[in-house]
Amino acid sequence: MDIFLPRIEICLSKIRENARILSELYGQNGISLMGVSKAVLGEPAIIEAMVQGGVKYIADSRLENIQKMKAAGIAAHFVLLRTSPSQAEAIVKAVDISLNSEIETLRKLSYHANADDKTHQVIVMVEMGDLREGVLPCDLSEFIREALTLTHINIAGIGCNLACHGGIKPDRKNMDNLSEQVNSLEREFQFGLGIISGGNSANYEWYKAAQDVGRINNLRLGESILLGCETVHRKAIPGLHTKAFQLFAEVIESKRKPSLPIGEICQDAFGRVPTFLDRGVHQRAILALGRQDVLVSGLKPNSALDILGASSDHMIIDSDRHNLQVGDEVSFNLDYGSLLTAMTSPFVRKEFINCSAAMAL
Ligand SMILES: *Cc1c(COP(=O)(O)O)cnc(C)c1O
Repeated sequence: MDIFLPRIEICLSKIRENARILSELYGQNGISLMGVSKAVLGEPAIIEAMVQGGVKYIADSRLENIQKMKAAGIAAHFVLLRTSPSQAEAIVKAVDISLNSEIETLRKLSYHANADDKTHQVIVMVEMGDLREGVLPCDLSEFIREALTLTHINIAGIGCNLACHGGIKPDRKNMDNLSEQVNSLEREFQFGLGIISGGNSANYEWYKAAQDVGRINNLRLGESILLGCETVHRKAIPGLHTKAFQLFAEVIESKRKPSLPIGEICQDAFGRVPTFLDRGVHQRAILALGRQDVLVSGLKPNSALDILGASSDHMIIDSDRHNLQVGDEVSFNLDYGSLLTAMTSPFVRKEFINCSAAMAL
């Protein structure tokens, strides 16, 4: 059998375990989880592992990924994280719940839900300071009042998203504030909000420190489940697997060369004028892997190798401490950006491997 390189090896049992441990951890305080599938493009085998781990909802920002998961028969409630008015008709057909912050979009969703004889469920996003999506708290009551006039929309809950654009940390203050918004809306409109979705993988520290999670009863987790870490400090969460994904690339040249280029230095392939450290003559290897395959800056070699640079399709590494031969494989751990790009590249083969979840974390 041919070996495919570059390839990303995906250990499903580790993802299943991560989902299970996180479901139990957050479940202790009544917080349900949406497993976020966008970084892996809704790859059904991976999402099935999340569902087996106990995640009840699957959330993605792209309709195409949700359609793929549904076609593959994944049994979960599907949530759309990013709602575009141009897709309203398809959203109503494919998605159970969508996250929203514009009344115009809700009107379109209601119109198409009516045509389909359905009620579309929405979570209204509230701006809590990160300055990405969300209705400003001062406009929230008016927004809800208008949304309630739409006949084929049901407000399933409210939510917020932090630590994405502004890098704002979820903490007691903003989480308590969200709970207060919920209480005040419920008093004003005499209704109950079902889902209070307090955030993402950045909410771990808040949760661990919280004596009381208030009204928060849901989180949307991608990175924690896939890579086993929280995202405020990118620290591993105890008990989770941090190496469910590994990237492999092939050595296509291995030679001793000087570390300083010879000749006049001009712009590199990406328009930057490079600078170099003189390490003397040393052993270097070229891997058949580049920026068209993966975000190189988020790769960490599993052995003592230094990445010296990468162009579209060649990566140069210092292999002084390893005797790499042409045809050898080099493996890397990936951060979220590298995972996202490797999963998106058509040149990186995705392979599901059998690994024992009990193996080294
Ligand atoms: C991507 C995304 C998430 C998941 O974020 P992670 O950091 O991977 O947990 C949650 N909510 C929204 C709205 C998102 O866009």
